[in-house]
Amino acid sequence: MKVAIVHNNEQKSRRVTQQLLALLEQKQIEVSETDPELIISVGGDGTLLSAFHRFNHRLNDVKFLGVHTGHLGFYTDWRDYELEELVSSFLIEQEKSISYPLLDVTIKFCDDVPDRHFLALNESTIKRSNRTMAADVYIKDELFERFRGDGLSVSTPTGSTAYNKSVGGAVIHPSINAFQLAEIASLNNRVFRTLGSPMVIADSEWVSIDLREGSDYLITVDQLNIYQENVDSIHYRIADERIHFASYKHMHFWHRVKDAFISED
Ligand code: NAP
Repeated sequence: MKVAIVHNNEQKSRRVTQQLLALLEQKQIEVSETDPELIISVGGDGTLLSAFHRFNHRLNDVKFLGVHTGHLGFYTDWRDYELEELVSSFLIEQEKSISYPLLDVTIKFCDDVPDRHFLALNESTIKRSNRTMAADVYIKDELFERFRGDGLSVSTPTGSTAYNKSVGGAVIHPSINAFQLAEIASLNNRVFRTLGSPMVIADSEWVSIDLREGSDYLITVDQLNIYQENVDSIHYRIADERIHFASYKHMHFWHRVKDAFISED
Protein backbone atom coordinates (compact mmCIF):
# COMPACT_ATOMS: atom_id res chain seq x y z
CA MET A 1 0.00 0.00 0.00
CA LYS A 2 1.23 3.52 -0.88
CA VAL A 3 0.31 6.39 1.40
CA ALA A 4 0.33 10.21 1.02
CA ILE A 5 0.05 12.62 3.93
CA VAL A 6 -1.54 16.06 3.66
CA HIS A 7 -1.22 18.28 6.74
CA ASN A 8 -1.94 21.85 7.74
CA ASN A 9 0.75 24.16 9.07
CA GLU A 10 -0.07 23.94 12.76
CA GLN A 11 2.90 22.90 14.87
CA LYS A 12 0.96 19.92 16.26
CA SER A 13 0.02 18.70 12.78
CA ARG A 14 3.66 18.90 11.63
CA ARG A 15 4.76 16.93 14.71
CA VAL A 16 2.07 14.27 14.16
CA THR A 17 3.09 14.02 10.48
CA GLN A 18 6.71 13.33 11.49
CA GLN A 19 5.54 10.60 13.91
CA LEU A 20 3.34 9.09 11.22
CA LEU A 21 6.17 9.09 8.67
CA ALA A 22 8.44 7.31 11.18
CA LEU A 23 5.77 4.66 11.81
CA LEU A 24 5.21 4.12 8.09
CA GLU A 25 8.95 3.67 7.56
CA GLN A 26 9.10 1.18 10.45
CA LYS A 27 6.32 -0.89 8.83
CA GLN A 28 7.96 -0.50 5.38
CA ILE A 29 4.96 1.29 3.92
CA GLU A 30 5.82 3.42 0.90
CA VAL A 31 5.02 7.14 0.92
CA SER A 32 4.01 8.40 -2.53
CA GLU A 33 2.72 11.83 -3.56
CA THR A 34 1.96 10.71 -7.11
CA ASP A 35 0.01 7.45 -6.93
CA PRO A 36 -1.07 6.82 -3.33
CA GLU A 37 -3.89 4.43 -2.46
CA LEU A 38 -4.51 5.94 0.96
CA ILE A 39 -4.43 9.65 1.78
CA ILE A 40 -4.08 10.58 5.41
CA SER A 41 -4.99 14.15 6.28
CA VAL A 42 -3.59 15.57 9.51
CA GLY A 43 -5.35 18.69 10.83
CA GLY A 44 -9.04 19.54 10.63
CA ASP A 45 -11.94 19.20 8.21
CA GLY A 46 -10.42 22.07 6.19
CA THR A 47 -7.26 19.96 5.72
CA LEU A 48 -9.30 17.00 4.49
CA LEU A 49 -11.04 19.33 2.01
CA SER A 50 -7.60 20.38 0.69
CA ALA A 51 -6.52 16.73 0.42
CA PHE A 52 -9.72 15.94 -1.50
CA HIS A 53 -9.06 18.72 -4.03
CA ARG A 54 -5.44 17.68 -4.45
CA PHE A 55 -6.37 14.08 -5.29
CA ASN A 56 -9.87 14.40 -6.77
CA HIS A 57 -8.59 13.22 -10.17
CA ARG A 58 -7.97 9.75 -8.60
CA LEU A 59 -11.19 9.22 -6.62
CA ASN A 60 -11.72 5.66 -7.87
CA ASP A 61 -8.24 4.62 -6.74
CA VAL A 62 -7.86 6.29 -3.35
CA LYS A 63 -9.33 6.23 0.13
CA PHE A 64 -9.12 9.06 2.62
CA LEU A 65 -8.58 8.99 6.35
CA GLY A 66 -8.48 11.95 8.74
CA VAL A 67 -6.42 12.47 11.91
CA HIS A 68 -7.57 15.49 13.88
CA THR A 69 -5.13 17.65 15.75
CA GLY A 70 -7.74 20.08 17.07
CA HIS A 71 -11.37 19.21 17.77
CA LEU A 72 -13.22 16.14 16.48
CA GLY A 73 -14.29 16.87 12.91
CA PHE A 74 -16.80 15.50 10.42
CA TYR A 75 -14.11 14.04 8.17
CA THR A 76 -11.53 13.28 10.86
CA ASP A 77 -11.93 10.19 13.06
CA TRP A 78 -8.53 9.54 14.58
CA ARG A 79 -6.78 11.30 17.45
CA ASP A 80 -3.09 12.19 17.28
CA TYR A 81 -2.25 9.66 20.05
CA GLU A 82 -3.81 6.74 18.14
CA LEU A 83 -1.28 6.56 15.28
CA GLU A 84 0.02 3.04 16.03
CA GLU A 85 -3.51 1.67 16.14
CA LEU A 86 -4.35 3.55 12.94
CA VAL A 87 -1.39 2.09 10.99
CA SER A 88 -2.08 -1.45 12.26
CA SER A 89 -5.78 -1.14 11.33
CA PHE A 90 -5.17 -0.15 7.75
CA LEU A 91 -2.63 -2.93 7.31
CA ILE A 92 -5.07 -5.55 8.59
CA GLU A 93 -8.32 -4.22 7.15
CA GLN A 94 -7.37 -2.75 3.78
CA GLU A 95 -10.72 -3.50 2.15
CA LYS A 96 -12.95 -1.68 4.65
CA SER A 97 -14.37 1.57 3.33
CA ILE A 98 -17.41 3.79 3.31
CA SER A 99 -18.36 6.24 0.56
CA TYR A 100 -20.31 9.52 0.48
CA PRO A 101 -21.91 11.57 -2.30
CA LEU A 102 -20.21 14.50 -4.01
CA LEU A 103 -21.69 17.47 -5.85
CA ASP A 104 -21.08 17.88 -9.57
CA VAL A 105 -20.78 21.56 -10.54
CA THR A 106 -20.75 22.81 -14.14
CA ILE A 107 -20.35 26.50 -14.95
CA LYS A 108 -21.58 27.60 -18.39
CA PHE A 109 -20.64 30.92 -20.01
CA CYS A 110 -22.47 33.45 -22.21
CA ASP A 111 -19.78 33.41 -24.91
CA ASP A 112 -17.79 30.59 -26.51
CA VAL A 113 -15.71 29.90 -23.39
CA PRO A 114 -15.75 26.14 -22.64
CA ASP A 115 -17.73 24.94 -19.59
CA ARG A 116 -15.83 24.56 -16.33
CA HIS A 117 -16.39 21.49 -14.23
CA PHE A 118 -15.77 20.91 -10.51
CA LEU A 119 -16.51 18.41 -7.75
CA ALA A 120 -17.47 19.70 -4.30
CA LEU A 121 -17.15 17.72 -1.09
CA ASN A 122 -18.94 20.30 1.11
CA GLU A 123 -20.76 22.79 -1.06
CA SER A 124 -20.82 25.33 -3.84
CA THR A 125 -22.22 28.84 -3.39
CA ILE A 126 -23.05 31.68 -5.77
CA LYS A 127 -23.00 35.26 -4.59
CA ARG A 128 -22.76 38.62 -6.24
CA SER A 129 -19.84 40.72 -5.11
CA ASN A 130 -21.40 44.16 -4.86
CA ARG A 131 -25.17 43.92 -5.39
CA THR A 132 -28.19 41.73 -4.78
CA MET A 133 -28.11 38.58 -6.84
CA ALA A 134 -30.97 37.80 -9.21
CA ALA A 135 -31.29 34.28 -10.57
CA ASP A 136 -33.84 31.88 -12.04
CA VAL A 137 -33.81 28.53 -10.27
CA TYR A 138 -34.76 25.54 -12.44
CA ILE A 139 -35.33 22.01 -11.15
CA LYS A 140 -35.14 19.37 -13.88
CA ASP A 141 -35.24 22.14 -16.51
CA GLU A 142 -38.52 23.56 -15.14
CA LEU A 143 -38.57 27.09 -13.71
CA PHE A 144 -39.17 26.80 -9.97
CA GLU A 145 -38.59 30.33 -8.66
CA ARG A 146 -37.01 33.70 -9.36
CA PHE A 147 -34.52 34.35 -6.58
CA ARG A 148 -33.33 37.72 -5.34
CA GLY A 149 -31.03 38.03 -2.34
CA ASP A 150 -27.43 37.54 -1.23
CA GLY A 151 -26.94 34.15 -2.85
CA LEU A 152 -27.57 30.42 -2.93
CA SER A 153 -25.78 27.48 -1.35
CA VAL A 154 -25.86 23.94 -2.75
CA SER A 155 -24.42 21.33 -0.41
CA THR A 156 -23.71 17.63 -0.07
CA PRO A 157 -24.93 15.61 2.95
CA THR A 158 -21.43 15.67 4.52
CA GLY A 159 -21.26 19.40 3.79
CA SER A 160 -24.65 19.97 5.44
CA THR A 161 -22.94 20.63 8.80
CA ALA A 162 -20.67 23.30 7.30
CA TYR A 163 -21.72 26.54 5.54
CA ASN A 164 -25.18 25.10 4.82
CA LYS A 165 -25.94 24.89 8.53
CA SER A 166 -24.90 28.52 9.05
CA VAL A 167 -27.46 29.65 6.46
CA GLY A 168 -30.29 27.64 8.06
CA GLY A 169 -30.03 24.42 6.04
CA ALA A 170 -30.89 21.04 7.54
CA VAL A 171 -28.28 18.56 8.74
CA ILE A 172 -28.55 15.51 6.49
CA HIS A 173 -27.33 12.01 7.29
CA PRO A 174 -24.47 11.23 4.85
CA SER A 175 -25.99 7.88 3.86
CA ILE A 176 -28.73 9.83 2.02
CA ASN A 177 -27.86 10.26 -1.64
CA ALA A 178 -29.21 13.77 -2.15
CA PHE A 179 -28.14 17.40 -2.22
CA GLN A 180 -29.53 20.51 -0.61
CA LEU A 181 -30.38 23.98 -1.94
CA ALA A 182 -30.43 26.73 0.70
CA GLU A 183 -31.06 30.44 0.32
CA ILE A 184 -28.70 33.07 1.65
CA ALA A 185 -30.74 36.07 2.83
CA SER A 186 -33.47 36.04 0.18
CA LEU A 187 -35.59 39.11 -0.42
CA ASN A 188 -39.21 38.19 0.06
CA ASN A 189 -41.86 40.83 -0.50
CA ARG A 190 -44.74 41.55 -2.87
CA VAL A 191 -42.40 41.66 -5.85
CA PHE A 192 -39.91 38.88 -5.11
CA ARG A 193 -41.09 35.52 -3.82
CA THR A 194 -39.13 32.35 -3.17
CA LEU A 195 -39.86 29.21 -1.19
CA GLY A 196 -37.85 30.57 1.76
CA SER A 197 -36.87 27.18 3.15
CA PRO A 198 -34.06 24.72 2.29
CA MET A 199 -34.88 21.99 -0.22
CA VAL A 200 -33.48 18.46 -0.37
CA ILE A 201 -33.14 17.39 -4.00
CA ALA A 202 -33.17 13.71 -5.10
CA ASP A 203 -30.20 12.13 -6.83
CA SER A 204 -32.27 11.68 -10.00
CA GLU A 205 -32.83 15.44 -10.26
CA TRP A 206 -30.69 18.42 -11.17
CA VAL A 207 -30.77 22.12 -10.40
CA SER A 208 -29.77 24.92 -12.79
CA ILE A 209 -29.29 28.50 -11.73
CA ASP A 210 -29.54 31.05 -14.53
CA LEU A 211 -27.92 34.32 -13.63
CA ARG A 212 -30.09 37.16 -14.82
CA GLU A 213 -27.90 40.23 -14.77
CA GLY A 214 -24.34 41.50 -14.51
CA SER A 215 -21.11 39.57 -14.53
CA ASP A 216 -19.62 40.17 -11.11
CA TYR A 217 -20.39 36.81 -9.48
CA LEU A 218 -18.37 34.88 -6.96
CA ILE A 219 -18.78 31.13 -7.18
CA THR A 220 -17.25 28.98 -4.47
CA VAL A 221 -16.49 25.26 -4.48
CA ASP A 222 -15.45 24.28 -0.94
CA GLN A 223 -12.44 26.55 -0.25
CA LEU A 224 -11.99 27.56 -3.90
CA ASN A 225 -13.13 31.06 -4.87
CA ILE A 226 -13.91 31.38 -8.56
CA TYR A 227 -14.38 34.92 -9.88
CA GLN A 228 -15.67 34.56 -13.43
CA GLU A 229 -16.89 37.02 -16.02
CA ASN A 230 -19.85 36.26 -18.28
CA VAL A 231 -21.27 33.31 -16.35
CA ASP A 232 -24.56 32.26 -17.90
CA SER A 233 -25.67 29.45 -15.59
CA ILE A 234 -24.49 26.93 -13.03
CA HIS A 235 -25.67 23.33 -13.00
CA TYR A 236 -25.74 21.04 -9.98
CA ARG A 237 -26.37 17.34 -9.60
CA ILE A 238 -25.07 14.40 -7.55
CA ALA A 239 -21.76 13.36 -9.07
CA ASP A 240 -21.08 9.93 -10.52
CA GLU A 241 -17.92 9.86 -8.41
CA ARG A 242 -18.00 9.37 -4.64
CA ILE A 243 -15.42 9.96 -1.94
CA HIS A 244 -14.21 6.78 -0.21
CA PHE A 245 -13.08 6.81 3.39
CA ALA A 246 -11.05 4.02 4.94
CA SER A 247 -13.46 3.02 7.69
CA TYR A 248 -11.44 1.35 10.39
CA LYS A 249 -13.25 3.29 13.03
CA HIS A 250 -16.94 3.87 13.18
CA MET A 251 -18.52 6.88 14.76
CA HIS A 252 -22.26 7.37 14.99
CA PHE A 253 -23.07 10.41 12.79
CA TRP A 254 -25.52 11.95 15.26
CA HIS A 255 -22.99 11.53 18.05
CA ARG A 256 -20.57 13.57 15.95
CA VAL A 257 -23.24 16.23 15.36
CA LYS A 258 -24.00 16.40 19.09
CA ASP A 259 -20.31 16.62 19.94
CA ALA A 260 -19.74 19.44 17.44
CA PHE A 261 -22.79 21.57 18.12
CA ILE A 262 -24.35 20.71 21.48
CA SER A 263 -22.04 19.10 24.01
CA GLU A 264 -18.96 16.91 24.32
CA ASP A 265 -20.36 14.03 26.37
P1 NAP B 1 -12.26 27.99 7.22
O1 NAP B 1 -13.01 29.28 7.18
O2 NAP B 1 -10.85 27.99 7.64
O3 NAP B 1 -13.04 26.91 8.12
C1 NAP B 1 -14.35 26.91 8.27
C2 NAP B 1 -14.79 25.97 9.41
O4 NAP B 1 -15.66 25.01 8.82
C3 NAP B 1 -13.69 25.21 10.13
O5 NAP B 1 -13.97 25.24 11.50
C4 NAP B 1 -13.83 23.80 9.57
O6 NAP B 1 -13.46 22.80 10.50
C5 NAP B 1 -15.33 23.73 9.38
N1 NAP B 1 -15.78 22.71 8.43
C6 NAP B 1 -15.29 22.37 7.22
N2 NAP B 1 -16.01 21.39 6.69
C7 NAP B 1 -16.97 21.06 7.59
C8 NAP B 1 -18.03 20.12 7.61
N3 NAP B 1 -18.25 19.30 6.58
N4 NAP B 1 -18.85 20.11 8.70
C9 NAP B 1 -18.66 20.94 9.74
N5 NAP B 1 -17.67 21.86 9.78
C10 NAP B 1 -16.84 21.92 8.71
O7 NAP B 1 -12.41 27.36 5.78
P2 NAP B 1 -11.69 26.13 5.14
O8 NAP B 1 -10.89 25.39 6.16
O9 NAP B 1 -11.05 26.65 3.92
O10 NAP B 1 -12.96 25.26 4.73
C11 NAP B 1 -13.89 25.72 3.76
C12 NAP B 1 -15.25 25.39 4.27
O11 NAP B 1 -15.53 26.28 5.32
C13 NAP B 1 -16.33 25.62 3.24
O12 NAP B 1 -16.57 24.45 2.52
C14 NAP B 1 -17.52 26.05 4.11
O13 NAP B 1 -18.41 24.97 4.33
C15 NAP B 1 -16.92 26.44 5.43
N6 NAP B 1 -17.26 27.83 5.71
C16 NAP B 1 -18.24 28.06 6.61
C17 NAP B 1 -18.66 29.36 6.86
C18 NAP B 1 -19.77 29.57 7.83
O14 NAP B 1 -20.24 28.60 8.44
N7 NAP B 1 -20.26 30.80 7.95
C19 NAP B 1 -18.06 30.43 6.23
C20 NAP B 1 -17.05 30.16 5.31
C21 NAP B 1 -16.66 28.84 5.05
P3 NAP B 1 -11.94 22.54 10.94
O15 NAP B 1 -11.64 23.58 11.97
O16 NAP B 1 -12.00 21.14 11.51
O17 NAP B 1 -11.07 22.66 9.72
